[in-house]
Amino acid sequence: MAKRLEGCTALVTGASSGIGEATAVELAAQGARVVLVARRAERLAEVADRIATAGGQARVLAADIAERGVPAQVVADVVATERRLDIVINAAGIMLNGDSMDRPLSEWEQMVDLNLTALLATTKAALPHLVQAAQGGRGVADVVNISSIAGRVASGTAAVYNATKFGVTAFSEAMRQEFARRDVRVSVVEPGAVSTELFEHQAPKAQERLSRILDKVEYLHPEDVAETIAHIITRPRRVALAEIVIRPTDHI
Ligand code: NDP
Repeated sequence: MAKRLEGCTALVTGASSGIGEATAVELAAQGARVVLVARRAERLAEVADRIATAGGQARVLAADIAERGVPAQVVADVVATERRLDIVINAAGIMLNGDSMDRPLSEWEQMVDLNLTALLATTKAALPHLVQAAQGGRGVADVVNISSIAGRVASGTAAVYNATKFGVTAFSEAMRQEFARRDVRVSVVEPGAVSTELFEHQAPKAQERLSRILDKVEYLHPEDVAETIAHIITRPRRVALAEIVIRPTDHI
């Protein structure tokens, strides 16, 4: 039986770990040719090897998409090499929570540059190619943006992370409306706690606070989110799963 994403090219940012990595593996298993984007080339190569061993197709594109101009270069490279772009998964993100008086402005800028500006720039560069890809093949193209529960509910010490994720949620809904009649579905996924490297970068105080809140919670696995993303993309053209919240069962 033909795989559902056979013939499609998917660009996945943040593909060297966590949700992006699991999503790349899942989309490749469903037949997509996947372009893996993140900074750590060795980690991307490992993911690409794993995909190839399982019979899938992947290509590594190491890049720092928080640098101005790089997202457009990445998209141009994908289109030049793969000749099409059907799916964009904007998963790259960083969470540097902490006391707003203590933490440096540079950490806030880092979050805005990656979580928001890079996501906007990647999407903008991809749009004409997505519109074009939707005219053939599946009859639809997809952008899936990874926001967060933190894009719905703000909390102390997460002010700028909240700001970026609220931004991603709002951007996604506005883009969904704008491109609904051009066969491009724009969806947003808002996970609760997922067991990934995301938590390792933040200040110890913020880490302690989060550990208290999430005490006894069984975190989601990255694969849980990846399966949700694949479900969104593999729906028939008429079905748009615009916004999905996915939480650990025991997180109140
Ligand atoms: P990870 O830290 O495992 O993944 C983050 C990814 O982003 C890595 O692949 C990292 O790769 C990449 N990345 C970081 N900086 C850059 C950059 N400048 N340029 C390109 N890629 C970059 O965390 P998650 O998988 O958890 O995070 C994925 C998304 O999910 C994020 O947007 C996060 O906010 C969101 N999320 C996560 C939740 C969780 O509980 N884990 C909950 C809700 C949302 P590299 O370092 O190689 O560049």
